[in-house]
Amino acid sequence: MSNIQHVTVLGTGVLGSQIAYQAAFAGKTVTAYDINDDAVAAGRERAAGLAKRYEAEVDGAAGGKAQAALESMTFTADLAEAVKDADLVIEAVPEKIEIKRGTYEKLSAVAPEKTIFATNSSTLLPSDIVDATDRPEKFLALHFANEIWKHNTAEVMPVPATSEETKREVEEYAAEMGMVPIVLKKEKAGYLLNSLLVPWLDAAAGLWAGDFADPETIDKTWKLATGSPMGPFQVFDVVGLTTAYNITSSNPDPAHQAVAAKLKEKIDAGELGRATGKGFYTY
Ligand code: NAD
Repeated sequence: MSNIQHVTVLGTGVLGSQIAYQAAFAGKTVTAYDINDDAVAAGRERAAGLAKRYEAEVDGAAGGKAQAALESMTFTADLAEAVKDADLVIEAVPEKIEIKRGTYEKLSAVAPEKTIFATNSSTLLPSDIVDATDRPEKFLALHFANEIWKHNTAEVMPVPATSEETKREVEEYAAEMGMVPIVLKKEKAGYLLNSLLVPWLDAAAGLWAGDFADPETIDKTWKLATGSPMGPFQVFDVVGLTTAYNITSSNPDPAHQAVAAKLKEKIDAGELGRATGKGFYTY
């Protein structure tokens, strides 16, 4: 058992609302913070929407448990109030370095000494942020995946100063909130999952953009030879072609630009992936 019962989530957007709601659903005492009353109201709406999705999609959520989790949550735009009892703060504010660092400076000034800080950053590294906190030994990354109730990995990634006790506490806490903790020994951009996934998707896109084979043939090769249920282009359709384009087009390397040009043709034709019914495949 961890010593973490009171959890505060900073930012109630796409991921913050999921992290906060899932923790409440797992029986933690949750406070969700956002910057102003409008953002708090939007966060509350997101959590209410999640309660409905859990009722439909999560075993045991219907019949009152999902609603009870929602009602147990506290929402506030007052940071000091939000963290006054927190054993753990999970930060899910926008992926901009100045916002992250500003958040940790303000948080350090008001959080009790016992509070552990965890960042859900995807691309920024915890070592880019750690010196904006007043407690490097109680700071690490705890990275969740979108649709947390289905894709329940929680990557726990320390900075050199993170204490063993902090790592152990957060690992135990992640399991208590229904996640499968994945603990890295040290910091790596992309954590484990994206360090594996992104080069694989890049390689597949390069084969397609270089006209070596069509997406169906590339997917078939991967699935037959490895036994994987999905090929890379099926994964592209789940991630969404717009996200893939945004990442690829920002890389000046000519191979990435060639992929970006081909992705743009599909995006311009409205083929954005599974969400729109058509991407590399038709759904
Ligand atoms: P989002 O834009 O949906 O939500 C951000 C929230 O932070 C908003 O509610 C906003 O009002 C609030 N906010 C803005 N400024 C703030 C401040 N100064 N202090 C506190 N809150 C503030 O973003 P998101 O997609 O939920 O991403 C949040 C973090 O989670 C990012 O670091 C992102 O990289 C990471 N993440 C996102 C995903 C994903 O699939 N969306 C997956 C894993 C990790």
